[in-house]
Amino acid sequence: MARDKPVLIAGGGIGGLAAAIGLAQKGYRSLVLEKAPQLGEIGAGIQLGPNAFHAFDQLGVGDAARRMAVYIDALVLMDAISADEIARIPLDEPFRQRFGNPYAVVHRGELHGVFLKACLAHPLVELRTSSAVTGFTQDESGVIAVLADSSMVDGAALIGADGLWSAIRRQLVGDGAPRVTGHTTYRSVIPTHDMPDDLRWNAATLWAGPKCHIVHYPLSGWKTFNLVVTYHNDAPEPVAGKPVSKEHVTSGFAHVHPRARQIIDRGHDWKMWVLCDRDPILKWAEDHVVLLGDAAHPTLQYMAQGACMAMEDAVCLAHEVEGASGDFSRAFEAYRMKRVNRTARIQIQSRLVGDHIYHPADGHAALRNTIMRSMSAGDFYDSLQWLYGGSGLDGGVGAVR
Ligand SMILES: Cc1cc2nc3c(=O)[nH]c(=O)nc-3n(C[C@H](O)[C@H](O)[C@H](O)COP(=O)(O)OP(=O)(O)OC[C@H]3O[C@@H](n4cnc5c(N)ncnc54)[C@H](O)[C@@H]3O)c2cc1C
Repeated sequence: MARDKPVLIAGGGIGGLAAAIGLAQKGYRSLVLEKAPQLGEIGAGIQLGPNAFHAFDQLGVGDAARRMAVYIDALVLMDAISADEIARIPLDEPFRQRFGNPYAVVHRGELHGVFLKACLAHPLVELRTSSAVTGFTQDESGVIAVLADSSMVDGAALIGADGLWSAIRRQLVGDGAPRVTGHTTYRSVIPTHDMPDDLRWNAATLWAGPKCHIVHYPLSGWKTFNLVVTYHNDAPEPVAGKPVSKEHVTSGFAHVHPRARQIIDRGHDWKMWVLCDRDPILKWAEDHVVLLGDAAHPTLQYMAQGACMAMEDAVCLAHEVEGASGDFSRAFEAYRMKRVNRTARIQIQSRLVGDHIYHPADGHAALRNTIMRSMSAGDFYDSLQWLYGGSGLDGGVGAVR
């Protein structure tokens, strides 16, 4: 059922490739236009809730994704000032049964590789690198994407999966630059033997301190540990992947317990991001053009859901395109309607989690500790039901509590 003209996808990140494979499964041809000279992802980790595995299965890559994942035992919240444990969410069999899938951590490059391999193997997906899309025109017959070298590419429709700084969003929505949150994140990946012995936990661990937090978890079959440390230092300008010294990273963490601080000492080749997000919006689509992933709903990473949402978007988009028998404008509206609330909840709740769980100080932190210590595993599972029990297709946002 390959159509005459392909669906154009701007961006070959996790969202763009997931959309390509989702459309291919439904018989639709796509052409991925990626700005970078090579397709790939930075070498850091990513956490995947059970909803990501629902999406993998629907995109036909469940087995490959499961093979490269590290299945952790728990999500652990530590107090970065006292070094006491605050809360532990077990991820064992009751968790898997409740949500129908596991929680796992993976290497980003390996996850991207799963989608890349599936795209390369599928005759309905074409990948083109060094192809930055700068804009588009459209009429009733389809879309023309304009590239940076002024060449033009003809398509039946255009999916803007071009990330936080989306050129497609700029033209479609025109809502300016993303919001600089003032939160700075530093990332490092270290060999497991460099991780302090007493912190080699099979858990995604988060040390919460005043205006800062530290995250670590094992990756790549336990060969490495992923370190992510974040400091709410009111940084004014967006930064992405800038190398910084260990001293620079440490300077924001003098106030945390030495047991947590030692994690920073163990890191090397630190890189820095000043985090951006956006407020949720309703306009994601116009006729044959639509947004997906970070281009549509960029979020702070505090619920570890940005990539998961991009994959859910891909599942939903492909489903709606199939349901509308290739009437893209009807399909894109149906997709938008299903996805806006769920992704808006992630954007808003991620900010709240940062302010009220990860970064509070003093009495606010003591209140957090008291509330979270009183919660059972079942209480945590109930609070996550809307997210992990949901999927790309149901658009679930849960009840307002
Ligand atoms: C520190 C940090 C930790 C995170 N942790 C998690 C986590 O644990 N779990 C999780 O689910 N999510 C996490 N995320 C979020 C996740 O990384 C993103 O939400 C996800 O990568 C978005 O995928 P995407 O494909 O929409 O965009 P991107 O990954 O940004 O991909 C966009 C692609 O488009 C290309 N591109 C850009 N402009 C153009 C153009 N004009 N033309 C053509 N191509 C273009 C880019 O080169 C890129 O390849 C984290 C994010 C950060 C910053």
